[in-house]
Amino acid sequence: MNKTKKVQLKGLTISELRDYFKSIGESAFRGEQVFNWIYNHKVTDFNEMQNLSKELRTRLDETCEIAALDFVTSENSPSTGTTKFLFKTNDDKNIESVVIPEKERSTLCISTQVGCPLDCKFCATGLMGYKRNLTPGEIVDQYFQSAKNYEDGEITNIVYMGMGEPLLNFDNTLKSIKIFTAELNKGLSRHRITVSTSGIPHKIKELAESELRIKLAFSLHSCFEDMRTKIMPINKKYSLKENIEAIKFYSKKTKTRITYEYTMLKGINDRDEDVKALVKLCSNTPSKINIIPFNSIKHMAPEGISSELEPTPLNEIHEFADKVRNKNITVMIRETQGDDIAAACGQLAVKH
Ligand code: SF4
Repeated sequence: MNKTKKVQLKGLTISELRDYFKSIGESAFRGEQVFNWIYNHKVTDFNEMQNLSKELRTRLDETCEIAALDFVTSENSPSTGTTKFLFKTNDDKNIESVVIPEKERSTLCISTQVGCPLDCKFCATGLMGYKRNLTPGEIVDQYFQSAKNYEDGEITNIVYMGMGEPLLNFDNTLKSIKIFTAELNKGLSRHRITVSTSGIPHKIKELAESELRIKLAFSLHSCFEDMRTKIMPINKKYSLKENIEAIKFYSKKTKTRITYEYTMLKGINDRDEDVKALVKLCSNTPSKINIIPFNSIKHMAPEGISSELEPTPLNEIHEFADKVRNKNITVMIRETQGDDIAAACGQLAVKH
Protein backbone atom coordinates (compact mmCIF):
# COMPACT_ATOMS: atom_id res chain seq x y z
CA MET A 1 0.00 0.00 0.00
CA ASN A 2 1.21 3.52 -0.81
CA LYS A 3 2.64 5.07 2.37
CA THR A 4 1.12 8.50 1.72
CA LYS A 5 -2.40 7.04 1.42
CA LYS A 6 -2.39 5.87 5.02
CA VAL A 7 -4.13 7.92 7.73
CA GLN A 8 -1.57 9.91 9.68
CA LEU A 9 -2.41 9.53 13.38
CA LYS A 10 0.45 11.64 14.71
CA GLY A 11 -0.85 15.19 14.74
CA LEU A 12 -4.41 14.25 15.69
CA THR A 13 -5.66 15.77 18.94
CA ILE A 14 -7.39 13.70 21.59
CA SER A 15 -10.85 14.62 20.32
CA GLU A 16 -9.85 13.88 16.71
CA LEU A 17 -8.50 10.47 17.75
CA ARG A 18 -11.74 9.69 19.58
CA ASP A 19 -13.70 10.70 16.47
CA TYR A 20 -11.44 8.66 14.20
CA PHE A 21 -11.91 5.47 16.20
CA LYS A 22 -15.67 6.00 16.33
CA SER A 23 -15.62 6.48 12.54
CA ILE A 24 -14.02 3.04 12.04
CA GLY A 25 -16.53 1.36 14.34
CA GLU A 26 -14.38 1.23 17.50
CA SER A 27 -15.10 2.86 20.84
CA ALA A 28 -13.88 6.43 21.43
CA PHE A 29 -11.84 5.08 24.34
CA ARG A 30 -9.51 3.40 21.80
CA GLY A 31 -8.61 6.92 20.68
CA GLU A 32 -7.49 7.77 24.21
CA GLN A 33 -5.43 4.59 24.40
CA VAL A 34 -3.74 5.34 21.10
CA PHE A 35 -3.14 8.96 22.20
CA ASN A 36 -1.39 7.58 25.25
CA TRP A 37 0.77 5.21 23.19
CA ILE A 38 1.78 7.80 20.59
CA TYR A 39 2.37 10.84 22.76
CA ASN A 40 3.26 9.47 26.20
CA HIS A 41 4.95 6.18 25.37
CA LYS A 42 6.28 7.58 22.07
CA VAL A 43 5.72 4.31 20.21
CA THR A 44 5.90 4.24 16.43
CA ASP A 45 4.85 0.62 15.92
CA PHE A 46 1.23 -0.47 16.35
CA ASN A 47 2.41 -3.90 17.54
CA GLU A 48 3.68 -2.30 20.75
CA MET A 49 0.17 -1.08 21.67
CA GLN A 50 -0.45 -4.03 23.94
CA ASN A 51 -3.87 -3.07 25.27
CA LEU A 52 -5.33 -3.20 21.73
CA SER A 53 -6.46 -6.50 20.26
CA LYS A 54 -4.18 -8.21 17.75
CA GLU A 55 -6.89 -7.77 15.15
CA LEU A 56 -7.12 -4.00 15.69
CA ARG A 57 -3.32 -3.63 15.69
CA THR A 58 -3.11 -5.41 12.33
CA ARG A 59 -5.89 -3.25 10.94
CA LEU A 60 -4.20 -0.06 12.11
CA ASP A 61 -0.89 -1.20 10.71
CA GLU A 62 -2.48 -1.65 7.29
CA THR A 63 -4.41 1.62 7.23
CA CYS A 64 -2.60 4.14 9.45
CA GLU A 65 0.87 5.45 10.18
CA ILE A 66 2.54 7.20 13.12
CA ALA A 67 5.77 8.81 11.90
CA ALA A 68 5.17 12.09 10.08
CA LEU A 69 8.89 12.71 9.51
CA ASP A 70 11.97 10.65 8.75
CA PHE A 71 15.03 11.43 10.82
CA VAL A 72 17.95 12.09 8.44
CA THR A 73 20.88 13.24 10.52
CA SER A 74 21.99 15.31 13.51
CA GLU A 75 24.97 17.60 14.00
CA ASN A 76 26.45 18.61 17.31
CA SER A 77 28.32 21.84 18.05
CA PRO A 78 31.40 20.92 20.09
CA SER A 79 31.70 24.49 21.42
CA THR A 80 28.15 24.92 22.81
CA GLY A 81 26.53 21.48 22.87
CA THR A 82 23.77 22.67 20.53
CA THR A 83 22.38 19.87 18.37
CA LYS A 84 20.74 20.42 15.01
CA PHE A 85 18.41 17.78 13.54
CA LEU A 86 17.55 17.35 9.89
CA PHE A 87 14.24 15.66 9.01
CA LYS A 88 12.57 14.72 5.75
CA THR A 89 8.82 14.98 5.17
CA ASN A 90 6.80 12.40 3.24
CA ASP A 91 6.96 14.65 0.14
CA ASP A 92 10.76 14.96 0.38
CA LYS A 93 11.02 18.40 1.97
CA ASN A 94 13.85 18.99 4.43
CA ILE A 95 13.25 20.77 7.73
CA GLU A 96 15.45 21.50 10.74
CA SER A 97 15.01 21.68 14.52
CA VAL A 98 17.61 22.62 17.13
CA VAL A 99 18.12 21.65 20.78
CA ILE A 100 19.75 24.39 22.84
CA PRO A 101 21.11 23.14 26.18
CA GLU A 102 21.17 25.58 29.11
CA LYS A 103 21.96 25.12 32.80
CA GLU A 104 18.64 23.72 33.96
CA ARG A 105 16.79 23.03 30.76
CA SER A 106 17.11 22.01 27.14
CA THR A 107 14.95 23.89 24.68
CA LEU A 108 13.87 22.51 21.34
CA CYS A 109 13.40 25.15 18.68
CA ILE A 110 10.86 23.80 16.17
CA SER A 111 9.82 24.81 12.67
CA THR A 112 6.27 25.46 11.47
CA GLN A 113 6.86 26.03 7.75
CA VAL A 114 9.23 24.82 5.04
CA GLY A 115 11.12 28.07 4.47
CA CYS A 116 9.39 31.34 5.36
CA PRO A 117 7.54 34.00 3.36
CA LEU A 118 8.50 36.95 5.57
CA ASP A 119 12.00 37.83 4.33
CA CYS A 120 13.40 39.34 7.54
CA LYS A 121 16.70 40.78 6.41
CA PHE A 122 18.79 39.26 9.23
CA CYS A 123 17.49 35.71 8.75
CA ALA A 124 18.83 32.90 6.56
CA THR A 125 15.49 31.09 6.50
CA GLY A 126 13.88 34.17 4.94
CA LEU A 127 16.37 33.94 2.08
CA MET A 128 15.10 30.42 1.25
CA GLY A 129 11.63 31.68 0.38
CA TYR A 130 8.44 29.84 1.30
CA LYS A 131 7.60 26.27 0.25
CA ARG A 132 4.61 25.19 2.36
CA ASN A 133 3.06 24.97 5.83
CA LEU A 134 3.93 22.00 8.01
CA THR A 135 1.10 19.73 9.12
CA PRO A 136 0.31 19.32 12.86
CA GLY A 137 1.95 15.87 12.65
CA GLU A 138 5.13 17.29 11.15
CA ILE A 139 5.27 19.97 13.85
CA VAL A 140 4.82 17.61 16.80
CA ASP A 141 7.00 14.89 15.31
CA GLN A 142 10.01 17.24 15.47
CA TYR A 143 9.67 17.00 19.25
CA PHE A 144 9.18 13.22 19.39
CA GLN A 145 11.94 12.41 16.92
CA SER A 146 14.37 14.93 18.44
CA ALA A 147 13.67 13.53 21.92
CA LYS A 148 14.38 10.02 20.65
CA ASN A 149 17.64 11.00 18.93
CA TYR A 150 18.94 13.55 21.47
CA GLU A 151 21.76 11.95 23.40
CA ASP A 152 22.57 14.69 25.91
CA GLY A 153 19.51 14.52 28.18
CA GLU A 154 15.85 15.38 28.16
CA ILE A 155 14.14 18.10 26.15
CA THR A 156 12.25 20.20 28.70
CA ASN A 157 11.01 23.22 26.73
CA ILE A 158 9.74 24.04 23.26
CA VAL A 159 9.99 27.31 21.41
CA TYR A 160 8.26 27.84 18.07
CA MET A 161 11.11 29.81 16.60
CA GLY A 162 12.63 27.61 13.90
CA MET A 163 11.86 27.92 10.21
CA GLY A 164 8.69 29.86 9.43
CA GLU A 165 6.20 32.20 11.05
CA PRO A 166 3.98 30.08 13.34
CA LEU A 167 1.03 32.47 13.27
CA LEU A 168 0.86 32.22 9.47
CA ASN A 169 0.29 28.49 9.98
CA PHE A 170 -2.12 29.23 12.78
CA ASP A 171 -4.48 26.23 12.83
CA ASN A 172 -1.70 23.64 12.63
CA THR A 173 0.41 25.45 15.22
CA LEU A 174 -2.58 25.64 17.55
CA LYS A 175 -3.37 21.95 17.08
CA SER A 176 0.24 21.01 17.88
CA ILE A 177 0.13 23.06 21.10
CA LYS A 178 -3.16 21.37 22.04
CA ILE A 179 -1.42 17.99 21.67
CA PHE A 180 1.60 19.03 23.74
CA THR A 181 -0.53 20.49 26.52
CA ALA A 182 -3.41 17.98 26.52
CA GLU A 183 -4.41 16.77 29.96
CA LEU A 184 -3.64 13.21 28.88
CA ASN A 185 -0.16 14.20 27.69
CA LYS A 186 2.28 13.89 30.55
CA GLY A 187 5.17 15.54 28.71
CA LEU A 188 4.92 19.31 28.61
CA SER A 189 3.03 22.01 30.46
CA ARG A 190 2.00 25.32 28.90
CA HIS A 191 4.65 27.07 31.01
CA ARG A 192 7.31 25.31 28.96
CA ILE A 193 6.02 26.34 25.55
CA THR A 194 6.70 29.66 23.81
CA VAL A 195 5.43 30.83 20.46
CA SER A 196 7.63 33.42 18.83
CA THR A 197 6.10 35.71 16.21
CA SER A 198 7.26 38.52 14.00
CA GLY A 199 3.85 40.11 14.50
CA ILE A 200 0.48 39.16 13.01
CA PRO A 201 -1.75 41.20 15.36
CA HIS A 202 -5.16 39.60 14.72
CA LYS A 203 -3.59 36.15 15.20
CA ILE A 204 -1.91 37.25 18.45
CA LYS A 205 -5.38 38.18 19.68
CA GLU A 206 -6.83 34.89 18.46
CA LEU A 207 -4.07 33.01 20.27
CA ALA A 208 -4.95 34.94 23.43
CA GLU A 209 -8.59 33.92 23.04
CA SER A 210 -7.63 30.24 22.58
CA GLU A 211 -7.21 29.81 26.36
CA LEU A 212 -3.98 27.87 25.80
CA ARG A 213 -2.08 30.53 27.79
CA ILE A 214 1.33 29.60 26.46
CA LYS A 215 4.15 32.15 26.53
CA LEU A 216 4.52 34.69 23.74
CA ALA A 217 7.75 36.08 22.34
CA PHE A 218 7.67 38.99 19.93
CA SER A 219 10.48 39.57 17.40
CA LEU A 220 10.86 43.28 18.02
CA HIS A 221 14.36 44.16 16.72
CA SER A 222 13.55 47.89 16.49
CA CYS A 223 11.10 50.19 18.29
CA PHE A 224 10.92 52.53 15.30
CA GLU A 225 8.38 51.81 12.56
CA ASP A 226 10.60 52.90 9.63
CA MET A 227 13.66 51.00 10.81
CA ARG A 228 11.61 47.91 11.65
CA THR A 229 10.08 47.99 8.16
CA LYS A 230 13.57 48.18 6.68
CA ILE A 231 14.74 44.99 8.39
CA MET A 232 11.34 43.25 8.66
CA PRO A 233 9.15 44.00 5.60
CA ILE A 234 6.08 42.49 7.36
CA ASN A 235 6.02 45.66 9.48
CA LYS A 236 4.65 47.53 6.47
CA LYS A 237 1.53 45.37 6.56
CA TYR A 238 1.21 45.00 10.33
CA SER A 239 2.71 48.00 12.09
CA LEU A 240 4.49 47.89 15.41
CA LYS A 241 1.69 50.05 16.86
CA GLU A 242 -0.95 47.44 15.96
CA ASN A 243 1.26 44.67 17.29
CA ILE A 244 1.91 46.39 20.60
CA GLU A 245 -1.83 46.80 21.09
CA ALA A 246 -2.30 43.05 20.39
CA ILE A 247 0.57 42.16 22.73
CA LYS A 248 -0.96 44.20 25.58
CA PHE A 249 -4.20 42.33 24.99
CA TYR A 250 -2.35 38.98 25.03
CA SER A 251 -0.49 39.73 28.23
CA LYS A 252 -3.63 40.92 30.01
CA LYS A 253 -5.81 38.07 28.82
CA THR A 254 -3.29 35.28 29.54
CA LYS A 255 -1.61 36.88 32.57
CA THR A 256 1.79 36.09 31.06
CA ARG A 257 4.95 38.11 30.63
CA ILE A 258 5.97 38.93 27.06
CA THR A 259 9.51 38.33 25.79
CA TYR A 260 10.83 40.86 23.29
CA GLU A 261 13.45 39.30 21.00
CA TYR A 262 16.06 41.83 19.99
CA THR A 263 18.83 40.88 17.53
CA MET A 264 21.62 43.43 17.96
CA LEU A 265 22.57 45.05 14.66
CA LYS A 266 25.36 47.56 14.50
CA GLY A 267 24.14 51.12 13.88
CA ILE A 268 20.57 49.86 13.34
CA ASN A 269 19.15 49.24 16.81
CA ASP A 270 22.05 49.71 19.27
CA ARG A 271 21.99 53.52 19.62
CA ASP A 272 21.06 55.58 22.71
CA GLU A 273 17.72 56.49 21.14
CA ASP A 274 17.04 52.74 20.87
CA VAL A 275 17.67 52.33 24.60
CA LYS A 276 15.17 55.11 25.37
CA ALA A 277 12.54 53.70 23.01
CA LEU A 278 12.98 50.18 24.38
CA VAL A 279 12.57 51.36 27.97
CA LYS A 280 9.41 53.24 27.03
CA LEU A 281 7.97 50.27 25.17
CA CYS A 282 8.66 47.84 28.04
CA SER A 283 6.86 50.08 30.54
CA ASN A 284 3.58 49.22 28.74
CA THR A 285 3.36 45.52 29.56
CA PRO A 286 4.96 42.96 31.91
CA SER A 287 7.91 41.98 29.78
CA LYS A 288 11.57 41.08 29.46
CA ILE A 289 14.10 41.54 26.70
CA ASN A 290 16.07 38.75 25.13
CA ILE A 291 19.09 40.15 23.32
CA ILE A 292 20.42 37.92 20.53
CA PRO A 293 23.91 38.48 19.13
CA PHE A 294 23.64 38.62 15.33
CA ASN A 295 25.21 35.93 13.13
CA SER A 296 26.14 37.44 9.80
CA ILE A 297 24.45 35.90 6.73
CA LYS A 298 26.62 37.81 4.26
CA HIS A 299 27.82 34.53 2.75
CA MET A 300 24.24 33.73 1.73
CA ALA A 301 23.25 37.22 0.57
CA PRO A 302 26.10 38.91 -1.23
CA GLU A 303 23.89 41.92 -2.13
CA GLY A 304 21.15 44.05 -0.57
CA ILE A 305 20.38 45.00 3.05
CA SER A 306 21.14 41.50 4.38
CA SER A 307 24.71 41.77 3.12
CA GLU A 308 25.20 45.13 4.89
CA LEU A 309 24.08 44.03 8.36
CA GLU A 310 26.85 43.75 10.94
CA PRO A 311 26.78 42.42 14.50
CA THR A 312 27.13 44.84 17.41
CA PRO A 313 30.40 43.93 19.20
CA LEU A 314 29.86 41.93 22.40
CA ASN A 315 31.22 44.63 24.75
CA GLU A 316 28.77 47.14 23.25
CA ILE A 317 25.92 44.65 23.63
CA HIS A 318 26.72 44.47 27.36
CA GLU A 319 26.82 48.29 27.66
CA PHE A 320 23.46 48.53 25.85
CA ALA A 321 21.93 45.88 28.13
CA ASP A 322 23.21 47.65 31.27
CA LYS A 323 21.64 50.94 30.20
CA VAL A 324 18.25 49.22 29.82
CA ARG A 325 18.68 47.24 33.06
CA ASN A 326 19.35 50.50 34.93
CA LYS A 327 15.71 51.36 34.21
CA ASN A 328 14.58 48.22 36.07
CA ILE A 329 13.89 46.12 33.02
CA THR A 330 14.90 42.45 32.84
CA VAL A 331 17.39 41.91 30.05
CA MET A 332 18.96 38.58 29.10
CA ILE A 333 21.77 38.25 26.60
CA ARG A 334 21.52 34.96 24.81
CA GLU A 335 24.81 33.21 24.28
CA THR A 336 25.59 32.65 20.64
CA GLN A 337 24.43 29.08 20.18
CA GLY A 338 25.67 26.78 17.50
CA ASP A 339 26.83 29.28 14.89
CA ASP A 340 29.58 26.80 14.00
CA ILE A 341 26.91 24.39 12.69
CA ALA A 342 24.54 27.12 11.37
CA ALA A 343 22.05 26.32 14.13
CA ALA A 344 22.00 29.74 15.75
CA CYS A 345 18.96 31.96 15.70
CA GLY A 346 18.04 33.02 12.15
CA GLN A 347 20.49 30.59 10.57
CA LEU A 348 18.22 27.64 9.88
CA ALA A 349 18.18 27.16 6.14
CA VAL A 350 18.38 23.70 4.70
CA LYS A 351 21.26 23.35 2.28
CA HIS A 352 20.53 19.75 1.37
S1 SF4 B 1 13.04 35.63 11.38
FE1 SF4 B 1 11.35 34.16 11.49
S2 SF4 B 1 9.67 35.27 10.47
FE2 SF4 B 1 11.54 36.33 9.87
S3 SF4 B 1 12.16 35.37 7.91
FE3 SF4 B 1 13.21 34.29 9.59
S4 SF4 B 1 11.91 32.52 10.04
FE4 SF4 B 1 10.67 34.02 8.90
